[in-house]
Amino acid sequence: MTDQAAVGRNARGEWRPENRIASAPINQWPPDFRALTRWFPRYIAPNNVVWLAAALVTWTWLTPALGDMANLEVWWIALLLARNLALVLLLFGGLHLYLYIFKRQGDATRFTVKPFATDSARFLFRNQVRDNMFRTLVSAVPVFTGYEVLTYWGFANGYLGAFGAEVGSLLFWAWFVALLVATPIIHSAHFYFIHRLLHVRALYRRVHALHHHNVEVGPWSGLAMHPVEHLLYFSTVVVQWLLALHPVNALFQIQIAVYYAAMAHTGFDKVKVGERVAIEGGSHFHYLHHKYFECNYGGSLVALDRLFGTFHDGSPESHEAMRRRLADIRAAEG
Ligand SMILES: [Zn+2]
Ligand SMILES: [Zn+2]
Repeated sequence: MTDQAAVGRNARGEWRPENRIASAPINQWPPDFRALTRWFPRYIAPNNVVWLAAALVTWTWLTPALGDMANLEVWWIALLLARNLALVLLLFGGLHLYLYIFKRQGDATRFTVKPFATDSARFLFRNQVRDNMFRTLVSAVPVFTGYEVLTYWGFANGYLGAFGAEVGSLLFWAWFVALLVATPIIHSAHFYFIHRLLHVRALYRRVHALHHHNVEVGPWSGLAMHPVEHLLYFSTVVVQWLLALHPVNALFQIQIAVYYAAMAHTGFDKVKVGERVAIEGGSHFHYLHHKYFECNYGGSLVALDRLFGTFHDGSPESHEAMRRRLADIRAAEG
């Protein structure tokens, strides 16, 4: 695996996928129906189906009954917190062990072979992985659990989800499914806008720079953020508060934000399970953001980067275009 992985790696130990990053065909106008029918099954499975199954399992077996959550009480909030800590340890910890401790795919499709920092003043405890784990477990998990608590409390009291639709009607379930399908798209669009906001100088310095201390990234870097960024990042659930009729839609929105953060920061283009299965997580797209800062703020699902001229598809031409754009900005700023 190592020999194969070394193919195409430059002298600095960097590797790039051959193919340019493409935007999803939902961004094309007029619509290309052939491309859409080819793309849609890949959008649904395997990744999003697995995440949806995880959300349904969480709701069915790992969440108290909605009626029991009408009052804010310590027992059920503590239960959600413990369950979310366990989920994050399982996914983020599992990916880290799989890729970096047991090295199950060697360096195959790894963007850089530079190790994580183990003696750097940029990180708490001078150690990148420990810093990233600390910020995830101590800040990210309580913040997104807080949003989840507010969601159930709101639904249990009729403050949310009460739009007059008859529960269990055909319209109700059609809207439920439509919102499930739209969840990753909502995530991608919301992330673009809050991420651009975080790159405004004052916010960048005080808040977002902390996430960018991670130049080489691993799964735990995904949610290694300032608490203010956690509040902004998980505020994606507010979209579901405004639209959803069922709390599972909001739960799925929160969990997608958690899972996508891990997958976009694996440091590998693909996570391989055996010889046949390769899971993509949009990792190259976001890896380029960590490397160059001023490109790829969103995801390849919603082409807002393309629309606003900040898209980097990984090619030398795209790199040159980014370099020119930044030079123009610097010239305009004097
Ligand atoms: Zn990142
Ligand atoms: Zn950024």
